[in-house]
Amino acid sequence: MSKTLICSCEDVTADDIRHAVSKGFCDVESVKRFTGFGTGICQGKGCLSAVAALLAKEKAQKPAGLLPFTPRPPEFPTELSLLASAPVDESQPPVGGVPQELSDFPPALRPEGPVPARAKVVIIGGGIMGLALAYNLSLRGETDVVVLERGYLCAGASGRNGGGVRMQWGTSANIELAKRSIALMGRFARDLGINVWLRQGGYLFMAKTKAVAERLERNVALHNKHGVPTRLLTVDEAREVVPGLSLKGAQAASYNPEDGVIFPWPFLWGYANACRKAGIKVETFTNVTGFELSDGLVRKVKTDRGDIACDTVVLATGAWSPEIAKLAGVQLPNEPHRHEILSTEPLKPFLSPLVSVLDSGLYFSQSMRGEIVGGMGDPKEPPGLNMGSTLRFVSRFSRALLEQMPQLGHVKVLRQWAGCYDVTPDNNPVLGRTPGLENLLQLSGFVGHGFMMAPAVAERMAQWMTTGESDELFTRFNLRRFQEGKLEREDMIIG
Ligand SMILES: Cc1cc2nc3c(=O)[nH]c(=O)nc-3n(C[C@H](O)[C@H](O)[C@H](O)COP(=O)(O)OP(=O)(O)OC[C@H]3O[C@@H](n4cnc5c(N)ncnc54)[C@H](O)[C@@H]3O)c2cc1C
Repeated sequence: MSKTLICSCEDVTADDIRHAVSKGFCDVESVKRFTGFGTGICQGKGCLSAVAALLAKEKAQKPAGLLPFTPRPPEFPTELSLLASAPVDESQPPVGGVPQELSDFPPALRPEGPVPARAKVVIIGGGIMGLALAYNLSLRGETDVVVLERGYLCAGASGRNGGGVRMQWGTSANIELAKRSIALMGRFARDLGINVWLRQGGYLFMAKTKAVAERLERNVALHNKHGVPTRLLTVDEAREVVPGLSLKGAQAASYNPEDGVIFPWPFLWGYANACRKAGIKVETFTNVTGFELSDGLVRKVKTDRGDIACDTVVLATGAWSPEIAKLAGVQLPNEPHRHEILSTEPLKPFLSPLVSVLDSGLYFSQSMRGEIVGGMGDPKEPPGLNMGSTLRFVSRFSRALLEQMPQLGHVKVLRQWAGCYDVTPDNNPVLGRTPGLENLLQLSGFVGHGFMMAPAVAERMAQWMTTGESDELFTRFNLRRFQEGKLEREDMIIG
């Protein structure tokens, strides 16, 4: 690879751009999407013209049908304080456009030729779950695996999340999974050759009501039992952790210094590269359209690039899982829920932990690049696969953020976007075998915490799949529990 850097924020070289062109990503928008150039601090100011010149030199042609959708900085960035003044009718549910990518990805981006006719394991969904599982299968010697992704690798929630990773959970299962995941993330640079920019600045949870304060207190005791050093803080102690935090209305806070924040994109790309190196096929822009079933088994997965006969199928399609499961006649209890999020211009580092008001679902952190990244749930959001953005969100979020950190009022918002939580009735995932279709394995329902659970869940799932050893995780979170009513609700959900 040439070391001619084009985008120094994101380490994108001239050869990376040429590689994108060779893959069929021929215009500025799709090259940006493929390489990540121009998404860093300077937002393309330093590299956009160089990329455009290189594309002209390479005589790259814009593929037919490709519509631009890559986020760009606004022409007139607006301050949080102004956005906070936009009127919101809290009684109305939010609305928002549905972007083009929700229906169809342009066929121009589809790889040429058919998918392999057979594979031992077919994983549907190239988000963090599908890729982490494929990588972990390869570590156990199973490489006859195909990952099918309808769009690009960061198309789903895995490319749209807040990057928070925390051990502060309300149930033992999630505490242990998160602990293991964070330990694995610390080794990614060595194991996967990627830097996920893990910064363990902690998570500070605030409680505004007595009930939530009691929940924090109860959970702190549970964390400590698991060796997680969470502390219950008074409001004054919390102010020492985050100077400048108003903590308006807060009754108590909890803080674990070992929680942190990562940058999601390299996380996915690192897993995908490692899979490909091991011989696993990661087929992007390949849509699963149905299944061939007989005698209680899935025999084939049908795609718009041909059918794949297989021994095992894994459903890792996040918020799309209910609709894909339906193609096999399986009813999942999951529901997609839009969650909006934004990032601001970069500021000097000043905020160590991710701060969250558990009552309202407000959360914000400062990324390694200095941006404030944050979101907030909306109790009026109807279920549905909507990934449009709203002024209502920016306004509600800005108001809630400025209540906690008034000094951020002058900071300008650069980008906003949305993704879907894949919500289950007990806020826990759907894992394991499907009753009636034994070789269809479930790996969905990760609500707002799939990123931080993926390394540990995938490790255990690969072990379970390749050894046949029983693992209580895949019985505890089996689909059957919803009929049997054995639900263990996770209550530390942000959003
Ligand atoms: C705004 C927001 C903030 C979040 N914040 C955090 C956080 O701070 N920390 C954290 O840990 N988690 C967070 N999450 C949750 C986390 O992003 C998800 O739990 C996780 O990414 C789910 O991964 P996945 O692989 O299951 O699903 P996805 O990443 O959604 O992947 C599923 C994939 O399946 C593909 N697919 C769909 N249909 C088909 C088909 N027919 N054929 C082939 N492929 C198909 C989709 O294109 C998609 O890429 C957040 C989520 C959102 C939306």
